Amino acid sequence: MLSLAIVYAGVALLAPLFALAERRWPERASPHRLRALDVAYWLVVTPIVTGVLTRGATMGALGVTAYAVASSDPQTFLARLHAASPLGGLPFAAQLGLALLVADVVGYFSHRIRHRGVFWWFHAIHHSATTLDAQAAARMHPIDDMLDNVLVGGAVLAMGLSPEVFLALGPIILLHTLLTHANVAWDFGPLRWVLVSPAFHRWHHALDRAGARGCNYAGMFSFVDLLGGTFHLPRAEAPEAFGSGEAIPETVLGQLAWPWRALGRSLKARG
Ligand SMILES: [Zn+2]
Ligand SMILES: [Zn+2]
Repeated sequence: MLSLAIVYAGVALLAPLFALAERRWPERASPHRLRALDVAYWLVVTPIVTGVLTRGATMGALGVTAYAVASSDPQTFLARLHAASPLGGLPFAAQLGLALLVADVVGYFSHRIRHRGVFWWFHAIHHSATTLDAQAAARMHPIDDMLDNVLVGGAVLAMGLSPEVFLALGPIILLHTLLTHANVAWDFGPLRWVLVSPAFHRWHHALDRAGARGCNYAGMFSFVDLLGGTFHLPRAEAPEAFGSGEAIPETVLGQLAWPWRALGRSLKARG
């Protein structure tokens, strides 16, 4: 319950700041209105539905791994992992930097997978926003979000870092995700090759690059896309339009059901 209160307080504090930045430095004209659909993702779908799914899947996977590897409960297993890890003794800043890097590399591959096949139908919900701004950042199907959270969270947990690192990771990733979706044209100048900027992530949401034609998959470090050959950030150019290219409804229930319907249609067509 406490973590939910922190999420709500963080959103209440950050939303006006991003709305102000988007009014002051807009990348393109936008109606500047609060969309009920995205408010529902911020307040209910992501913190509650995705939160419960992610916690359940992580605890389940951790419980099975702890029992299979060390015949112990998850808490004891994590404590032993931390004690045995050479990374657990590094200074806090180094641990945090490594955690962000590992999270981004694993997130890059998770994101590439989620642009293909069945996974795309669930991830397409995130790409359904045709007006790209900080509000749209939370628009993710719980299954898509949970898969990514479990893969990235599992990789970071396996590093055996200090528990405080996990507390710092969430707010940093949330703040940066809001920024990269904001309706501003910032490309971070020379840092464009290192950090994911709003200009960089806008190309990821370009309509003509939806699905398997994607680019700019990294969430935080743009050099991961450079290494992966998927970096796309032409100077003085911006995408013409944003979207998924799919006929996705603009209601919460419609969006939660859409991937399952697409899956049903595909199974029916196969036979
Ligand atoms: Zn994507
Ligand atoms: Zn996005």
